Amino acid sequence: MKKLGDLIVLSGPSGVGKSTLVGKLKQSLPALEFSISCTTRAPRGSEQNGVEYYFLSQEEFDAKRRNNEFIESADVFSHSYGTLKSEVIDRIRRGVQVVLDIDVQGALQIRKAALEDEILKRTATFVMIAPPDLETLKTRLSGRATDSAEQVAQRLAKAQSELQNFRHYDCLVVNDDLEKASEDLLAVFKAASLRSSTIDEELFV
Ligand code: 5GP
Repeated sequence: MKKLGDLIVLSGPSGVGKSTLVGKLKQSLPALEFSISCTTRAPRGSEQNGVEYYFLSQEEFDAKRRNNEFIESADVFSHSYGTLKSEVIDRIRRGVQVVLDIDVQGALQIRKAALEDEILKRTATFVMIAPPDLETLKTRLSGRATDSAEQVAQRLAKAQSELQNFRHYDCLVVNDDLEKASEDLLAVFKAASLRSSTIDEELFV
């Protein structure tokens, strides 16, 4: 059967446990491919160019934006982030399941683009990962050694406004219990790969 891959657009505020869940997904679904985004923020810790992100200067980023190389781009915490078409479209055509880990502004841009773009329309599934409540998120964010109090407050405010967009997503996975959330996310990925719209030929004729 000729089949397109599919695109999972995953959003979730910082502190929601997205990286841990994504790490578990990678173990369960080794064929999954992650789109590497461009960003103008500096690498943190052991992050490497071309692994976690493509780290670009603002000039390099703006040039790509002008050349229409991004499916979506957004400013997050005063840095620019963007998803390259070259990371996504060919892979979907080749039948790969591709994951984007992007913020709500970016996800909504892809939602809109999918109204016109045939490939996106047929393959994109939008998934939000949420905390059980805002208090839990605050506790988790405050426990991170890397962020100052100001950063925690900033991230919490952004998280709240992001979460209010949950209805723009097809699925909501609540990360209360990690094992349960991980199972739920796996089920969503499986179901997305079975969407009839990803089948690329007439069948049963
Ligand atoms: P961080 O800098 O902590 O890696 O990511 C900050 C935020 O930017 C996260 O919410 C992440 O999902 C989002 N992000 C990462 N890459 C992209 C992208 O290509 N586009 C958009 N819109 N957001 C992104």
